[in-house]
Amino acid sequence: MNMRICRWALLVALTCVLHTSAIRVDFTYHHYDEVERVLREINQAYPDITRLYTIGRSAEGRELWVMSIAGVQDRHVLGRPEVKYVGNIHGNEAVGRELLLHFANYLASRYRLHRNVTEILDSMRLHILISMNPDGFESSVEGDCRGVKGRGNSNRVDLNRNFPDFFEDNSYPPRQMETQAVMAWMQERQFVLSANFHGGALVANYPYDNLPRGVKRKRLRTGASMYNTSPDDDVFRFLAMTYSYSHPTMHNSHKCDNSFTDFEYGITNGADWYTVKGGMQDFNYIEASCMETTLEISCCKYPSERHLPDYWQANRRPLLSYLRMANMGVRGVVSDELSGEGISNACVFIEERLHPARSTIRGEYWRILLPGRYSVIVVAEGYATLLRENIVVNSTEIPRVVDFVLSPAGGSTYYLSHYERLCEEAVDDTNGSTRRNRYLDLTRLKRAWRGRDHAAA
Ligand SMILES: [Zn+2]
Repeated sequence: MNMRICRWALLVALTCVLHTSAIRVDFTYHHYDEVERVLREINQAYPDITRLYTIGRSAEGRELWVMSIAGVQDRHVLGRPEVKYVGNIHGNEAVGRELLLHFANYLASRYRLHRNVTEILDSMRLHILISMNPDGFESSVEGDCRGVKGRGNSNRVDLNRNFPDFFEDNSYPPRQMETQAVMAWMQERQFVLSANFHGGALVANYPYDNLPRGVKRKRLRTGASMYNTSPDDDVFRFLAMTYSYSHPTMHNSHKCDNSFTDFEYGITNGADWYTVKGGMQDFNYIEASCMETTLEISCCKYPSERHLPDYWQANRRPLLSYLRMANMGVRGVVSDELSGEGISNACVFIEERLHPARSTIRGEYWRILLPGRYSVIVVAEGYATLLRENIVVNSTEIPRVVDFVLSPAGGSTYYLSHYERLCEEAVDDTNGSTRRNRYLDLTRLKRAWRGRDHAAA
């Protein structure tokens, strides 16, 4: 009995210690200096599980602050996914930025106290870019629900139209400092899952955002649907619905006052809503195999701060549920049979999905997949291509770990050589042009897949 009282007293004391170090984040809009102050406070209060770093500067010289949070913070753990949340790419869409600041504090302060938070932070490392467009935010006006003042950066460039586009040329205007910083950040580490936050609607939007120009024109002429299906459409729909159904109203096809569009289940394919050239989510998926969605979380772009507690209540659970999806699907390591070393830049295809994930420098790969049975094809330069069938994903919560050991070069079947060619293009591609050709080539490749049994025989 005494022992039990002792243990209880210890727990209370420990909780008190943890709570005295808790940071209070007010429900007000935090401007640039205040964001930095709050992030530093969180970092000081939870130094073991948070890290504060900057990925570069805005055009006016403001730092692009990122807070990373994880159970093991100071290094990458083999096989553990890196995930990211990006706020405020449109400077005048302010709710996401504030929610992410609260979310960083919420996660850090509940680690080891709250089971869901602990499981998340023990299974991934989250990187939160509070504001991708701090200059735009500083020139925006609270209460401006529909305007565009502050949308772009200080050069008035819309950053969500400023990424390389793989369906049409997007070399003008030149890449902005903020865009370059995010691109370099993505090159440094392979992110597996991501979301970026917007305002002005209530919907979870998923790739593709754009279409090849010719296809766009033809569809406009004929009135055909603009829906542009990516190879991972099922996964994207699930990710978008994970957010919309965890949210109290997003899934109800809630229509904002200024909108004519109904969103079934609170989700939409990007191009089906309106096409976007140079958007960040297509870039994430096509360039980096990072599954990113665009989350529109407030009808008013920059609502009065008295509404912030309601937005936090509505989005806290979706923010958590969405992160858990990083653990869904197949992951593992691709390695060399002789040396045992990881193979970097191997392409990991899921059969019938003509889009590779590339392995990291340590040979790790991740594919977010819904429960089901899959065939996985691994292609790496100098190695025999490997096909493994009947890989079963049972759960949306627990990753299926499958490692691939490749042996030095050997021939492959006609059918597999299509994947080899796709991999070669994906690795070589520097300007997106071969990817455009690849997109237009999909029909032919799909036909090849269907005929594979004959061709391989
Ligand atoms: Zn936006």
